[in-house]
Amino acid sequence: MIKQHFSIQSITESLASHPEYDGHEEVVFCEDSETGLQALIAIHSTTLGPSLGGSRRWKYSDRNEAVTDVLRLSKGMSYKHAIAGTRMGGGKAVMIANPDAEKTPALMRAFGRFVDSLEGRYITAEDVGTSVQDMLSVREETENVSGLPIEHGGSGDPSPMTAYGTYCGILASLAWNQGLDQQEACNSEVVKDRVIAVQGLGHVGMDLCQQLFAAGAKLIVADVNAARVEEACHQFKAIALPPDEIATAEADLFAPCALGGILNTVSIPNLGAAIVAGAANNQLMDDEDGARLHQQGVLYAPDFVINAGGIINIANEKPTYDADKARTQTQEIANTLWQIFQRSREINRPTSVVADELARQKLLVVTP
Ligand code: NAD
Repeated sequence: MIKQHFSIQSITESLASHPEYDGHEEVVFCEDSETGLQALIAIHSTTLGPSLGGSRRWKYSDRNEAVTDVLRLSKGMSYKHAIAGTRMGGGKAVMIANPDAEKTPALMRAFGRFVDSLEGRYITAEDVGTSVQDMLSVREETENVSGLPIEHGGSGDPSPMTAYGTYCGILASLAWNQGLDQQEACNSEVVKDRVIAVQGLGHVGMDLCQQLFAAGAKLIVADVNAARVEEACHQFKAIALPPDEIATAEADLFAPCALGGILNTVSIPNLGAAIVAGAANNQLMDDEDGARLHQQGVLYAPDFVINAGGIINIANEKPTYDADKARTQTQEIANTLWQIFQRSREINRPTSVVADELARQKLLVVTP
């Protein structure tokens, strides 16, 4: 039963003139005075299936900033799902973190009731600021939650699959730049003795390094966390660089696996590699940076294409997690990137633009 201190309000109509509004199907705001929860869920599109996207908890300066973020992120999820072929739609939730509303199991359960009120049109998962543990609290209130631990019937941490998809995308990018045929897009031989600069040695970056090292790559790494750098140097014979030197390091490929906005007017002219292919979200500071890379002759693997392994994994969680299917679908990232590179060359447009167009086309087609 929805309690009195709990309110849900549709704000979709009020957003019609918002610069980030893109025909989103539904945007709802939820408040729970008992736990201090303030959250937004945006469903961008359910054309291809129920919307699936993580729940981010962040210190937004105000509600408007949170609205902008949830509109942008949910649209990004639609594009990511469309290209990855998960048959899921795009949605996202954001929670406005504030010091008076600690992230407690009660707050997460209130969020779970909010998710449940959308009756399956939005399925949540963990994201920045939320954890697998939080999703177990959400699960107490709704079926519509993914990314649970394997022992709880879920698919576990999505990062290894994200790393695997990024690895496949790196192989395809190297093969493309070497002028090889598409059947070589997944051949690990292409990475042997290649120098790969990896920025960020977290859940995804470290796993990626392990796969690259096993295939014979030479690694240059950077992280703000010295212990992780030490571990990569020890385990993968990597060479360490200070964080502000990794993007300019001379390498065959630069793999950003830390922060967004790494590709910008300052970094692009100084990039040390002819290929950028990594897992980080929102690598382009703005859309024009995709064009800057293209003009400079840098091959860019669009982030939402190459880092889709994690959501492919989560999309394979129900009714019963199928790891083999998730892995096979994740391998397809290599072929998808190949198509994008080909189209980019044919029409002489940035790969980022081609990827956006491909996603929009898929969103227009309702698969039976
Ligand atoms: P993480 O937090 O585990 O790792 C990020 C790493 O980057 C940390 O080790 C951190 O110390 C390091 N870092 C932070 N600032 C840095 C800097 N200035 N220079 C170098 N290193 C820095 O995160 P993650 O789960 O590994 O995700 C990495 C990126 O991939 C993020 O952008 C994330 O949004 C994106 N992504 C992750 C997944 C996933 O399944 N985990 C899926 C899709 C996209």
